[in-house]
Amino acid sequence: MKIICIGRNYAEHAKEMNAAVPSEPIFFLKPDTALIKDNQPFYYPDFSKEIHHEVELVLKISKPGKNIELQFANKYYDEIGIGIDFTARDIQAKCKEKGLPWEKAKAFDGSAPIGKFIDKNKMSNISNIHFHLNVNGNKIQSGNTKDLLFTFDSIIAYISKFFTLKTGDLIFTGTPEGVGPIAIGDKLEAFIENEKLLTFEIK
Ligand code: MG
Repeated sequence: MKIICIGRNYAEHAKEMNAAVPSEPIFFLKPDTALIKDNQPFYYPDFSKEIHHEVELVLKISKPGKNIELQFANKYYDEIGIGIDFTARDIQAKCKEKGLPWEKAKAFDGSAPIGKFIDKNKMSNISNIHFHLNVNGNKIQSGNTKDLLFTFDSIIAYISKFFTLKTGDLIFTGTPEGVGPIAIGDKLEAFIENEKLLTFEIK
């Protein structure tokens, strides 16, 4: 399976990064070794001094597809979850400066914790899903799919022009504003609406 992540999909996050709002989706990949499941801890790596949390809704692809038309894109995922796109911001800044790829900053082991998934049909409106991240009990990031620059369906249609999507692939759909550093000892909890779907510690 592969993990595809969308960058700058919320205008307020693009702004806090001093980055332009994109005219088409920006995406990058993480390998399956980036996953953390079952609320296992994240071990702070020694190659970075500035790991940031980016809480994101995650789509789970439910059937294979290539060149998926926008009007059918909603048939390619059944479940929505929540995850963290951990980013070594110090390394990413250096990569950006030199125009190099981001993988070192984005795709390292453990950089993609994911929580439980929920049936998308249980959501009353896909275009109005609220989600948030607590760090040590304080709400640090919150977002709503009404603020997405590119909808779930348009992301799926766009990505599938380039990559065949396969059952079980995951799409991280972008982070809202409020990204920031984590520290050893922090406890992270991620929620869709009021349901806690992910909780883990930084070690
Ligand atoms: Mg992200």
